[in-house]
Amino acid sequence: MGAQYTALDDRYMGQGCSLLSSVQLSSLASDGANLGVSNLGPVTCEVSQVFSGWARYGVDRAARQILGSPVRTIETMGSYSCRNVAGTDRRSGHATGMAIDVSGFVLEDGRRITVKGGWFGGTAQEQQFLRTVQQSACKRFATVLGPAYNSAHNDHLHVEGVIASKSYCR
Ligand SMILES: [Zn+2]
Repeated sequence: MGAQYTALDDRYMGQGCSLLSSVQLSSLASDGANLGVSNLGPVTCEVSQVFSGWARYGVDRAARQILGSPVRTIETMGSYSCRNVAGTDRRSGHATGMAIDVSGFVLEDGRRITVKGGWFGGTAQEQQFLRTVQQSACKRFATVLGPAYNSAHNDHLHVEGVIASKSYCR
């Protein structure tokens, strides 16, 4: 995929939290350039691979088609975190490095499109871009949750796991 990454040692943190077969991504690749990714921690190798493909074929190409500019950086709110799904006693996909919270996209022309500002409040093109990248995420990840799901996701797209047959896409 042209991504730059470092392989990480397996770690068990206890309490259902672990990082196995994980990598630290430092940059991704679009069709013709490096694609930055900010604030990302450890993610399992297979989710990192899906994320790299989505960045290139789902995000960057949609930005060029809909917004007329390539993407320079994908902004995230992190990945690994030993925590539960909010309001439950169930471990989150973040607790095993299977999930990434994507908060925004900085374009090569300087524009910055955030989930928080753009999902409901952006221009028609920005709203279309964000919905398009969510739909393409739903073709690759097992679970994709955005602002339409609940208020806990009003500022990011939660992408998790690798699609098996059909994604949970909200
Ligand atoms: Zn999340």
